[in-house]
Parts: sequence; C-alpha cells; structure tokens
Amino acid sequence: MNWLLPRLIAVLIATALGGIAGLMIPGHSVPLFGALLGFACALGVIGVRDTLNGYRLIAWLRGSQEDPAPRDAGLWGELGYRIERSIRLHERSAALERDRLTQFLSAIEASPNGVMLLDARDQIEWCNSLAADHFGLDPQRDRRQPVTNLVRAPAFVSYLQAGRFDAEVLVPDPRGRRTLSVLVRGYGDGLRLVLSQDITEHERSDGMRRDFVANVSHEIRTPLTVLAGFLETMTNLPLTEVERRRVLTLMTQQADRMGTLVSDLLTLAQLEGSPRPHADRWVALGPLFAQVAVDAKLLSAGRHTLVFPAAVDAQIAGAPNELLSAITNLVNNAVRYTPEGGRIELGWKLLAAGAGEVSVADTGPGIAREHLPRLTERFYRVDGSRSRDTGGTGLGLSIVKHVAQRHGGELDIHSELGRGSVFRLVFPAARVRAVAPAVQVALAREERALP
Ligand code: ADP
Repeated sequence: MNWLLPRLIAVLIATALGGIAGLMIPGHSVPLFGALLGFACALGVIGVRDTLNGYRLIAWLRGSQEDPAPRDAGLWGELGYRIERSIRLHERSAALERDRLTQFLSAIEASPNGVMLLDARDQIEWCNSLAADHFGLDPQRDRRQPVTNLVRAPAFVSYLQAGRFDAEVLVPDPRGRRTLSVLVRGYGDGLRLVLSQDITEHERSDGMRRDFVANVSHEIRTPLTVLAGFLETMTNLPLTEVERRRVLTLMTQQADRMGTLVSDLLTLAQLEGSPRPHADRWVALGPLFAQVAVDAKLLSAGRHTLVFPAAVDAQIAGAPNELLSAITNLVNNAVRYTPEGGRIELGWKLLAAGAGEVSVADTGPGIAREHLPRLTERFYRVDGSRSRDTGGTGLGLSIVKHVAQRHGGELDIHSELGRGSVFRLVFPAARVRAVAPAVQVALAREERALP
C-alpha cells in the first residue's frame, strides 16, 4: 500500500493549499471553494498521471513482454512489477515443462520399439520415427489423421477395431518386406498406446531353425530306415554267407553316413559357438597341404590327376583344425564330384595388398549358375543322390564358409556347367604372412616346443 499514502498526502496538501488560498483572496473569503478546487486539481493530476501510466502498461502487455514492464513509481509501477513477475514465473515453468516433454519424447524416440499415441478417435497424436517407419507414416504430416485411413494392413485395422488387446498381433508388411509384432494398450480417457516391433529377423531365424531340425531329422531317418530294413531282413530271412556280408557292408555304409552327418553337425555347432580364432597363432600352409594331399590320394584311389604345390611359403593366422577341415572339404568335394580321369589342383597365391588365396580347381561337371548363391546353405545339394552316394552330408560348403568368415575371409565360387569349378578361400592381409620354407620348418619346430 506504499502507493496509497503519497496520493492521500498529495490530495490533502492540495486541498489544504486550496483552502488557504481561498482564505487569502482579499475581500472574498472562500476557503471551502479553495479547498474543493485544490482537491479537484489533485484528483485531476492523479487521474492524468494514472491514464498515462495505465496506457504505458497496457501497451507493454499488448507487446511481446520481452522488455521489463514500465518501472513507474506508485500504483502502476507495482501493478506492472507484479504482472511481469507472474508472467516470468509462468514462462519459466512452461519452459521447464517443455524441456521435460522434449526429454521424455527423446527417450521414447530412442526406444528400440515403435511407439504411437492415438486419441479416443484413433487419430495419431504422436509417433516416434521407428513407428513412422514401421507403418509408413510421416510423423508431422499425418498428425491428427485417423490411423486406420493411413495404415493399409488389414490385420492391424481389424485388431484395433475389435478392441481386444490382451495379446499382440502379427502384422505382415503389405509389401511383404517384413513382419511386425504390434501390441496396443489403453490409457487415460479412451487413449491408446501402440507398440510395434520388427520381428522379421526373429521369424526368419525361427524358420531356419525349424527347417534345420526338419532337415536333420530327415537326414538321420533315411539311413535309420535302411538299417532297420536290413536288420529285419537279417532277422527274418535265412541268408547265405555272401548275402550276409553284402548286407553288413551296406549297413556299415549307412552307419558311417550317420557318423559323418553327426560329426559335421558337431563341427558346425562348434564353429558357431566358439570365439573367433586367434589372429596371432600362425599356421604353416605347407604341412597343412601335405595332410590334405594324403586324404585326397586315399579318396581318389588313383582315379584322378592330383596337383599340389611343391612348396608353400606362407602362413595363415587362425585355427589349424578349422583350416584343415575347410581345405579338406573343398578338395574332397572336387574328388567326389569329378569323374574318373579328371584333374584336381590345389593352389596358393599371394594377392595384391597382402591378402592370400587357397584355391581348389577341378575339371568336374561344374554347377549351373542358379545353384551358386545357395550352395553354402545347410543341406543344399545340386544333385541329392550323387551327394549321398559319395558320402556327402550337404553341410561341407556351409562349414567351409563359416571357417572363412571366422578368419575374416570369404569363400568365392566360380563354376560353369561342363567346365569344372574353382573354389577360392580368400584370407585378409592381416591373417597372411609369407615365410621362406626353411624358416617355416624352424617356426613349426619352435611352435611345437612351446608349452
Ligand atoms: P555335399 O556333402 O553334398 O557335398 P557340400 O555342402 O559340400 O555338400 O556341397 C553342396 C553341393 O555343392 C553338393 O551337393 C554338390 O552338388 C555341389 N558341389 C560341391 N562341390 C562341387 C564340385 N567340386 N563340383 C561340382 N559340384 C559340387
């Protein structure tokens, strides 16, 4: 109230001065009239000042209020100060709320799930960019649009319209590119929260797992059925010694086949479950190639021309058993699929920039172009019966590809029908080093001597 007292004092002084002036007019003593005039003058001056100050305050209020309010003394000064303080407080708390909302929305934006908020009429209130991508929406343009008009996935629309949200729904992308898992939760007054997740990869690996189990079961069941048949024959029929030997040989073949399959499956499981081979354990290729050559000669039994490099002056960093398994698989495939009289060549080459390549070339039947991209899939065979007849499991190239990738390299296949095939294992420079043969032997001895 510190603005009221000065006014009262001013009015009183003006009234008193008016009264005194009225007294002092010679011949006409009109103190009352003088006091009234003084009072009226004081009110008039206060009124004019108030009008001016009020006008300035209103002009400030109508503006952006970025400058401070007019700092007048008295009533208008206090009014301006209090209004400004309440505006600033309000602005500060609004800014705080805005910051909190921005932080909250950024947290939802960072969510690994798509998040969309719908109002009571299923119009889009807000969605994060993942939800926009999942449902093909534009987060800005599509705001306030009914979601059912924009999302052309019948499974999602009927799920939303049915209103039973106890379980999630699988929504296939209309373009067949992916599958979404969508879950809706109600909140507030008829509002809805839509959570979406891309489960394409999950579905794919689930499908692969199912196929894998079906394939393994099939691969095991076939030799088992044959074995069971032979056992029945041996139990129920009187066989001659020659027949008995023949049946036993065939049974052994089937048992071997199952054994090879199980061992390939174990190799694959081991490759998938173990850490990548060390990048500082150097394996000399010379002794590795020599071992592969022994196996290949046994398998070929003189039916092919086998060519192996005389001396290989290189080492590869990695797991020796894996490298041996990969190269043996490639050479054995070449021997198994190349008809008698064919030529099989194992080679080693240093490539540009220090990379290295192990190659296995054969003059076999070759592989038609359409099969090439699928050759490294588990159980994929170009000719199933030929593969089985020669003891194949359909897992060999899958193992080779795994080994190559675990060593930072890749398997490269070139083949043409009737013109043979070349399989190349390419290793990166970091895992390849050239060593003179004499040094290699010394290094191999050193490695053996290590604890
Ligand atoms: P498999 O145990 O059947 O040989 P792989 O995974 O080793 O399985 O090979 C997959 C398929 O690729 C084989 O079934 C065969 O049809 C084809 N293939 C592999 N190597 C050769 C080759 N050197 N020449 C012709 N075809 C081959």
